[in-house]
Amino acid sequence: MAELSPMMQQYLEIKKQHKDEILFYRIGDFYEMFFDDALTASRELDLTLTGKQCGLEERAPMCGVPFHSYEGYVARLISKGYKVAICEQVEDPAKAKGLVKRDIIRVVTPGTVIESSMLQDDKNNYIASIFLKGGAAGLCFADVSTGTAHITELKREKIAPAVIAELCRYNPSEVLMNPGLLDCREITAYIKKNMNCAVELVEEERYAPGLVAISLENQFGRDWAAKTGITEDGLVRFAMAALLEYLHDTQIKGVERLKTVITYNEAQFMRLSQVTRANLELTETLRGREKRGTLLWVLDKTSTAMGKRMLRSWIEQPLISSAAINRRLNAVESLVNQTMQRGDLIEQLHYIADLERLMTRAVYGSATPKEIYTMAQTCERLPELRAQAESCSCPELTALAGQIDLLDDVKTAILAAIDPEAPSTLKDGGVIAKGYHPEVDELRSIRDNTKGVLAQLETRLRQETGIPKLKIGYNHVFGYYIEVSNSYKSMVPETYIRKQTLTSGERYITQELKELESKILGAHERLIALEHRLFSELLETIGGQLDRIQRTANAVAELDVLAALAQVAAENNYCRPVVDDSDELTITEGRHPVVEQMLKGSLFVPNDTRLNCTTDRCLIITGPNMAGKSTYMRQNALIALMAQIGSFVPASSCHVGVVDAIFTRIGASDDLAAGQSTFMVEMTEVAEILKNATPKSLVVLDEIGRGTSTFDGMSIARAVVEHISDPAKGLGCKTLFATHYHELTDLEGAIEGVKNYNIAVKKRGEDITFLRRIIRGPADDSYGIEVAKLAGLPGTVTRRAHEVLRTLEASAPKNKVEQMDFDALQEYSSPAVPSEMMEKLEALDVETLTPIEALNFLYELKKTL
Ligand code: ADP
Repeated sequence: MAELSPMMQQYLEIKKQHKDEILFYRIGDFYEMFFDDALTASRELDLTLTGKQCGLEERAPMCGVPFHSYEGYVARLISKGYKVAICEQVEDPAKAKGLVKRDIIRVVTPGTVIESSMLQDDKNNYIASIFLKGGAAGLCFADVSTGTAHITELKREKIAPAVIAELCRYNPSEVLMNPGLLDCREITAYIKKNMNCAVELVEEERYAPGLVAISLENQFGRDWAAKTGITEDGLVRFAMAALLEYLHDTQIKGVERLKTVITYNEAQFMRLSQVTRANLELTETLRGREKRGTLLWVLDKTSTAMGKRMLRSWIEQPLISSAAINRRLNAVESLVNQTMQRGDLIEQLHYIADLERLMTRAVYGSATPKEIYTMAQTCERLPELRAQAESCSCPELTALAGQIDLLDDVKTAILAAIDPEAPSTLKDGGVIAKGYHPEVDELRSIRDNTKGVLAQLETRLRQETGIPKLKIGYNHVFGYYIEVSNSYKSMVPETYIRKQTLTSGERYITQELKELESKILGAHERLIALEHRLFSELLETIGGQLDRIQRTANAVAELDVLAALAQVAAENNYCRPVVDDSDELTITEGRHPVVEQMLKGSLFVPNDTRLNCTTDRCLIITGPNMAGKSTYMRQNALIALMAQIGSFVPASSCHVGVVDAIFTRIGASDDLAAGQSTFMVEMTEVAEILKNATPKSLVVLDEIGRGTSTFDGMSIARAVVEHISDPAKGLGCKTLFATHYHELTDLEGAIEGVKNYNIAVKKRGEDITFLRRIIRGPADDSYGIEVAKLAGLPGTVTRRAHEVLRTLEASAPKNKVEQMDFDALQEYSSPAVPSEMMEKLEALDVETLTPIEALNFLYELKKTL
């Protein structure tokens, strides 16, 4: 150590405290990395690896990034799972005696980023903290960038699935956990396998009750329990305290931003497993994981980033209280009907900046002057926005308008302090507005106008002293001076201090001149420092209004979402669903919200649905591949879900009795990459559904039992239908069940509430047309070969398939698989000639055939080949 250069010693001292992070060590205009950090960073960021003399024989490996563009590099490291500690120079290098003092100002981790360049505008970024003890857990999901935390207590015999369900709901990018959680392999294995997030194990000592209480008290005040809803004897307090301490360790400043604590209860929201979220393509597509092609894509007509985030969370968390849903629907309806007001409201919303995240950056002290100025511009729009919302005379919108604080004081403070042309960094000044602070104005005028200021002073001194030829000059030895020629010497005031005698006259200095001199010489530096100070003071003033700004931000976000839902409803001709606590799911002329948009030009064929828990409990849907079974089933699930987020729905009329959960088992989500067989995945998913569904759930099953032999598959499928749809046997919940097993259509009549439906197709010769209409009754055929032909299977193959099929059908009565005689296949190895032709051939009377008829027949025969 002693041989190392002083700077390297300082570096290693700091690095000792941050072994797990990549240390960005500020030297002048660069952040440098050394030793192992340099090797890692140069590899991950494609930086050139160099070396630095460090006092030892070998140079220390080094690489660096320019300080002004460090965010992009940090973002890349974070996305690759690293954490980055930012070490700054904390004193002015020009004034430092010896080595410049340096300190860690922040540790950036996936769950704690606040830089807009590292965040997605339309997505919350959650850090989770879990405290698990026995069959109970305290959960806390916080978005540091918006200062909001959601908390909940869970308690049950099997705690793991409940915790996993909450993790899926928030999809955090970082998870803090107590050592007790390590005993629950199910959760840790799930996180490792399915979640793309960093995991941090918090030491047991951190959860000491004394420390926990202090931590909560420091953050929320002595009455933390009343203020936040965190119970004094629950487990959330441990989770929250661990989170706060972690933030203090990593963020250093700004932790006070985390103010809004929302207690939720999982029973408030529709239960949606990760598989169902994926299958229904709520926020990302199954293939490609894109937004285009999802429900979010269709509904997202929001104008603000805050609205975008809220819409996403509404879609991810549909409600189950019909009263709360209807309140949202009232607001949407009012905006659908008032086209003018809606247009004006949306117009205003376009001008609203991301108050929530701006606020965070203000509290953290990292907001730029330009950002703060946009905050004032946003405030300027608030009165108009509030008036627009009020003018709709809808109680729900008026209530929201009431939550908008006009923030006049904040706006006035910013407009007074910040120059409208303020740059996006503080480093060159030009931030503080003219007229805000006399010293800023003075320093600027001195900096810009040294000559003018001196001339002014000269004129004034001439007047004061009566010496007409008094002159102000400058030399390197003693700076600015006043020069008076010998003939006026006697008129020089006593306060002038003589500095130099010349043959022609004398040179003096005065107190005032010296002050001016130091102002002139240090004007720029002082100006920048003063602007810094004033700007920080302004940020503090704004930070003091956190609660009001947050409340306003929430109200604006909600208005934005409601206006967007209304806009989508109006553009796409949606209707208001009747939502209540009945068991109905009745949809007239329903459409799939996404497929409808994708088809655009060509028309989507609407279909009706009638489901309830008594007479129409389980719809068995048959029909050829590609007929539209999946689309139909998903459309029903999506319509119920849309209704429960408070959106209008793509139908001509609709009645939704609130469902507590939607479960789906749809073929496409095969988990082959994870090394499980299709059949295993399918059965695990079905098992989960049977375990978790209630009579109030909606279940969508698409062709279960395919991954095994026909008999096995059919038996499983049948048993599942019996179990799900028969209240005496199990659940009796509303079910949509698509299947290829025509045998299952026998269940209509056998179990009450089971109804057969099929998607109509029109057959002409060997060709079929999909009508896309759902009709009562089982499908008369599976048309597999016709669909295969549509898909381009060669004619020779489809003809042979027809041949084989006919044989099978002849030997086995339809729909009775157990009597199928596969051996019969062996007998038909004759060349493939379509049976219709064979029949015609047999019926042909060669004796009476004219040559032209014979030719025609031959021609026809040839065509079938
Ligand atoms: P299946 O599940 O029966 O194999 P899909 O539901 O996948 O069939 O539908 C196949 C295609 O048919 C879809 O990609 C969609 O483009 C189209 N389609 C489905 N339903 C409709 C409809 N009601 N109107 C128009 N096109 C539809």
